[in-house]
Amino acid sequence: MVKDTKYYETLGVSPDATEAQLKSAYRKGALKHHPDKNAHSEDAAEKFKDLSHAYEVLSDPQKRQLYDQYGEEGLEQGGMGGGMNAEDLFSQFFGGGGGAFGGMFGGGMREQGPKKVRTIHHVHKVSLEDIYRGKVSKLALQKSVICPKCEGRGGKEGAVRKCSGCDGMGMKTMMRQMGPMIQRFQTVCPDCNGEGEIIRDRDRCKQCNGKKTIIERKVLHVHVDKGVQSGAKIDFAGEGDQMPGVQAGDVQFEIEQKPHPRFQRKRDDLFYQAEVDLLTALAGGRIWIEHLDDRWLSVDILPGEVVKPGEIKVVRGQGMPSYRHHDFGNLYIQFDVKFPERLGRGGIDENGEEIGMSESEIKALESVLPPRMIQNPPPPDAMTEDYPLERVDASREQARAQKAAMDDDEDDMHPGGERVQCASQ
Ligand SMILES: [Zn+2]
Ligand SMILES: [Zn+2]
Repeated sequence: MVKDTKYYETLGVSPDATEAQLKSAYRKGALKHHPDKNAHSEDAAEKFKDLSHAYEVLSDPQKRQLYDQYGEEGLEQGGMGGGMNAEDLFSQFFGGGGGAFGGMFGGGMREQGPKKVRTIHHVHKVSLEDIYRGKVSKLALQKSVICPKCEGRGGKEGAVRKCSGCDGMGMKTMMRQMGPMIQRFQTVCPDCNGEGEIIRDRDRCKQCNGKKTIIERKVLHVHVDKGVQSGAKIDFAGEGDQMPGVQAGDVQFEIEQKPHPRFQRKRDDLFYQAEVDLLTALAGGRIWIEHLDDRWLSVDILPGEVVKPGEIKVVRGQGMPSYRHHDFGNLYIQFDVKFPERLGRGGIDENGEEIGMSESEIKALESVLPPRMIQNPPPPDAMTEDYPLERVDASREQARAQKAAMDDDEDDMHPGGERVQCASQ
């Protein structure tokens, strides 16, 4: 008989459920209650956690046996209370990121190959100009190096002894009786505080104080190659921290391109926004673009070629240099055409009315622009009415909108407001 059935109830299975039944119950429940599917639902989040915890325990034969015999208390005493993060279990179950395995198998799995100090990661932010031209960045970093005075021993030769309590391992395996089972667990050796060694104080190395390593400043030369992409990684093998008896770690720089005020970059191409006036857009002219290497590109818009608002044109070969090749991407220019507020030199007549364009000005435009097209003409027998077109007066429209909103509020007041009081008097 099982002591506690809570975990089985959480999964909705009976205490004699098979592994396959547990698995399918967890799969169904986890998919249903996953927080991604139940945004802002506290209940679902709680349920998802409970499901994950129950499954984590029951899917592990050792934990399940403990739970069946002693309930939750048994798990806690056996050092198996904690467990892994619900999301990690989920992604592991459904094949998410590889990192999820660390939580569950971290204790049992051994890393492959010789022991190595972990890699130090740095993000190196670089301007687009520097990527365009290429450069060598000198970056200083602090790292641990083997103490030169004691050569990493921590003290005088012969002064450092292996800890006898743990046989130099730093960890001790202990046993503990848990009902009918014997639990083995590891603990930090209390004799040497996990160091595995014992050094007498007076024999300690003065330079590193027995720590075996000292902090050193090291300058690395990071080659930012022309055209390197954001996210590219540059490795310095063995330039990371040193530790006695372990392979030195690596340093890895990740190139991150800083945003640029003028250009946007897509792979090897550059994108640029240019403002042009209507005259230039129609009758041609010149725009200047300050490039990334102190050059100013002079770009001609040919008369009569017409640049439409939002149109994109290209200057070939003026993009970024391609990484480790000798060609260049393109420079794409998107045009923002600035239309004038009004046309014509007519000015104001004696009555203060705007004259607009003169006959000759209109004629001049008509001579170069395509003819007017009449949109949506009415049938010949239709009744027509003439209307003038006015400018929209922003402040007037706003006042209208405010008034309309106030009228609405007044309507809302009808049932309980002052009017009722008036009527009752
Ligand atoms: Zn030393
Ligand atoms: Zn020890």
